[in-house]
Formats: sequence, C-alpha cells, structure tokens
Amino acid sequence: MLRVLKFGGTSVGTLERIGNVASIIRKMRDNGDDLVVVVSAMSGETNKLIDYAKYYSDAPNDRELDMLLSSGERVTSALLSIALNELGYKTVSMSGREAGIYTTNDYTYARIEKIETANMEQAIKNGEIIIVAGFQGVSVDENRVTTLGRGGSDLTAVALAGALKADICEIYTDVDGIYTTDPRIEPKAKKMEKISYDEMLELASLGAKVLQNRSVEMAKKLNVNLVSRSSFTPDVEGTLITKEENIMEAPVVSGIALDKNQVRVGMYGVMNKPGIASLIFTALADANINVDMIVQTIGTDFKANLDFTVPVGDLIKTKNVMEKFQNDVEKIEYNEAIAKVSIVGVGMKSHTGVASKAFSALANENINIRIISTSEIKISMVIDEKYGELAVRTLHEAYELDK
Ligand code: ASP
Ligand code: MG
Repeated sequence: MLRVLKFGGTSVGTLERIGNVASIIRKMRDNGDDLVVVVSAMSGETNKLIDYAKYYSDAPNDRELDMLLSSGERVTSALLSIALNELGYKTVSMSGREAGIYTTNDYTYARIEKIETANMEQAIKNGEIIIVAGFQGVSVDENRVTTLGRGGSDLTAVALAGALKADICEIYTDVDGIYTTDPRIEPKAKKMEKISYDEMLELASLGAKVLQNRSVEMAKKLNVNLVSRSSFTPDVEGTLITKEENIMEAPVVSGIALDKNQVRVGMYGVMNKPGIASLIFTALADANINVDMIVQTIGTDFKANLDFTVPVGDLIKTKNVMEKFQNDVEKIEYNEAIAKVSIVGVGMKSHTGVASKAFSALANENINIRIISTSEIKISMVIDEKYGELAVRTLHEAYELDK
C-alpha cells in the first residue's frame, strides 16, 4: 500500500515532536507500507521568515520571498529524515523541485501545472521513505523556486497522492478529524467517520483550520481519499473525506457551520430600473468581492430592496463600490453584527422538510432569520450575531447530530 502522509506545523513544531512523527512513520513502515511524507515548516516559522523580510522592505520581491519561505519546509524535511535514519530507516528528503513539482510563475501563490514522478518512483523502488518539503515547487517558465500559498503543504500532499496514485492521503494536524460542528460551541459535537468532498467544501468554516480548501478541491478532482487525523493521538482513526458514492448511508444533515465574518449590506429603495441589479453585482465582481447571499424584494412602491452579504475583509472595498450607486438608492446600511449558520448534508437532495425543521427550531428559540439561501446540499441563514452559538446548538439538536 502506498500512503502519502502530511504533517502540519504543530505536528513538527519542536524537535521532540519531529521525533514523535518519526515514530508514527516507523510503525507504518514496519507494517510494510511505501511512504511519501510531506511536511510543513515548524509552526510559526513561515511567519517568522516573512517578518525577517519585512525588516528590510514593506514589499519584498515575490521571487525572493519564495526562496526564503520555501526554506522552512526544507529544514523540517531534512530533520525528519535524519531522525528516521537514526532509527535505522532508509530515507531521502526532497525539495519541491526534486519531487518534480512544476508550477506557474505566480510567485507566493503558484499553481501546480504538472508533477514528474520519476525521482520519487525510483526512491520508492530503492525502498526509501521519501520526505518532501511541502508548499513549494519550481516554475516551468523561469526555473525558480515558487510557493503555493499559505497552507500549501496540504496541496502538495494531495497533488503527490494523485500523481503517484497513492491508496490514501493522510493529513495529520492537532485535531483528530472533522466534527459535526465546532466542539467549542457544542461539546456534544461528534466526529464524523466519513464525509463527502462537497460537504467538506461547504463546511469550510469548520474545516478551514484543519484542511486547506484548495487541497479538498484538488482531492475531489483527482479522486484522492483524504483522511484528517491527529499526530498527537495516532491510534485514533480520523475522518475520511471521499466521494459521495463511497458513503453508503449519508445522514440527511452532516454538519452545522457558523461564520461570523460576514457583513450584511442592505440597499433600500433601489430605483426599479431594468439592469440595476446587474450593474451593482458586476461592479462588486469587478472589485473581486465575494458576494455570498443575495435577496431582492420589490415593495408596493415598486422600488426594490436588496440584501446581500460580503466577507468582513471586503467591507472597505464594498463601501467604495457602493458609493457609485449612492444616487440610485434611498438608503444603504451595513450590519456587521450578523452570523451565518449553515446546515450541510448530501442527504438533503433526497429528503423533504429539511429546511422547515431548521426554521421551526430557530423560531422556538425566538431567533429571527434575516436572509435564507439554499443550494442542493446547504441551507444558510443570516441571523443576529449574538444568537450564533445558540443557533448552532439548537440546530445540532434538531437534526440529532449528537446521536
Ligand atoms: N508553512 C506554510 C504556511 O505556514 C505552508 C503550510 O504550512 O502548509 O502557510
Ligand atoms: Mg496547515
């Protein structure tokens, strides 16, 4: 069996922890598995390197930044390799270039273009454990070191697993899987055994700290079976993220997510001239603002009211865009004190009454819903921020996710 394992920054955060990772690897190797291990930089290291660069410049050259940042992962790969040698195992550490990872030349956020596996295949044949420095590659056009964007080691692992047709890609962090909701909000949250790629992507606000979103998208594309598990409790099985067909009995609702980083923009008394909505949303799209939920209603005066949400981080950009429409509306309002709760589940596709259950559960708690939007596998509701946690607990119970 060929396994790709990835260890995140906290898992390799100290020399002792790198030693702990070495003993996890040792066990698997003794079971006879071929192993390709991808490592992050020791936790805090990448930020430290960025600070070093900022000592000299507010806007360091991107190519130099990549040369600098890629070094963090290389340190860990060599150290882990040395630790394993000491335990008597044959290993080879590889930079992104040596692992054959070719990328675009978008320095600091390069995309993987192709992977040449010859080097890795040879090492596997030689019986070596491969330790790859994550988060990096080499640009096809300029033959320079690139990095894949923050959190990019997950992407390295998934891409290698895809290219090598590995049986499994296990992502080790300091949490032991994906939960039905954030256990800090609802202590009764349960760890899921399996979840589909699409659900995982929708639950990003739960999993973002666990798995980089881009890597989940890539896993879906390349059909890589991903496991989220912890290096601190390696005997505990994690959560498998896989294609929907591999999940025999999907629950109607799999998880509840809470996102407090949205702002509601209300535009009232919008002139009801054809094309105004298109003008507004085109302007927002042109400014690269990620509009999430949109509701339009037409009042008795035939004027429109528009409600939509944007990420808090885009608020200033949004206000700038809105200025252009100042004369087309009676009032524009921004409300940051909102939360978006979402219920997610592939089982929704084939069940009725899923949405009404959510609405009644929230109504029972006197929680007002301001905007509702639905997709095939998700129902999102905008509510007052102060009820966010209560809503999560209420919905968690309503769908019996603690059972
Ligand atoms: N070290 C890089 C970061 O901190 C990449 C990674 O850890 O995945 O973003
Ligand atoms: Mg990470």
